[in-house]
Amino acid sequence: MPESDTGAERTPTWPTVLRCCAALAATPGRLLRPRRPDRALLASLIDAPIPQARNTIRLTVLEQATMSAPTTIVAEGARSLREMTLTMSAFLIEHPAARFLVDPALCSGVHDRVLPELPFPIPLLVAPDKPVLGLADALAARDIGLDTIDFVIPTHLHWDHVSGLLELPASVPIRLPAVEHEWALGGTHAPIGVARGPLRERTFDTFTLDGPPVLSFPRSLDLFDDGSVVLVDLAGHTPGSIGVLLAVDDGTRVLLAGDAVWSRLQIELLREKAPMPGQLFDADRDAAFATIHRLHALPDGIEVIAGHDYAAVTALAARR
Ligand SMILES: [Zn+2]
Repeated sequence: MPESDTGAERTPTWPTVLRCCAALAATPGRLLRPRRPDRALLASLIDAPIPQARNTIRLTVLEQATMSAPTTIVAEGARSLREMTLTMSAFLIEHPAARFLVDPALCSGVHDRVLPELPFPIPLLVAPDKPVLGLADALAARDIGLDTIDFVIPTHLHWDHVSGLLELPASVPIRLPAVEHEWALGGTHAPIGVARGPLRERTFDTFTLDGPPVLSFPRSLDLFDDGSVVLVDLAGHTPGSIGVLLAVDDGTRVLLAGDAVWSRLQIELLREKAPMPGQLFDADRDAAFATIHRLHALPDGIEVIAGHDYAAVTALAARR
């Protein structure tokens, strides 16, 4: 990506450095005293019915890269000194009426093609380990042609969920909430975590989550009107973050939860990310924490897959 194509829209560097410093300074205290759960919010959550599934989908996990982070910063204050392995993955969904990707995560060469667009020091914090399996190669390994993908649905527009678009035909549309499109692309500068390069010259098909509450989530959209793919509101990490609730052909119910949490441990312990990295990458910390409460309140039988949760994603992949 030539500098002249993106320079004017890039996130400025110095404000980013200052935000990193503030997040670092706030972190030690929170590791000792993590944010307390909001018991009143938990008590107020409803458990609305899921639309009955009249179809099922086939789910294929495309693991593309790994990285690691201290467990105690992924789930703030978790009493562990261990590094947690994280994944970057795409998900292929095959519905009777369409084949699509949730989170076309990474392209090949993402370190050179996308990460340089992010301001210092963000690439140092978020770069996946090498090698990275590009989206086209991941699909080719399963004999899936790029031209057979009908559309993509990002759980949100951070770089690590859309960089694979660089390998998909420009004719493949991106379906997403209008609020997410406006947040990522409407302002003068890209928000921290957004690289606009992979989003250029794409077709966007925006929608509003105007369907009824589903489970503990206040808004939804039944994508095919058959209960098999229901989008739910996971706002907080970004304004238009969504979860994708699937009726899978093995009889399970899986919620692809994007980055609402990075690990299942956050849901179990009811912990947000530590200030570093949460203050950088969660657009609205209070809303993000409320969403974790909604995930915590889900009934048994809903398998929540955080997009970066290596243990959960690899276990899901092993079943298919
Ligand atoms: Zn992510």
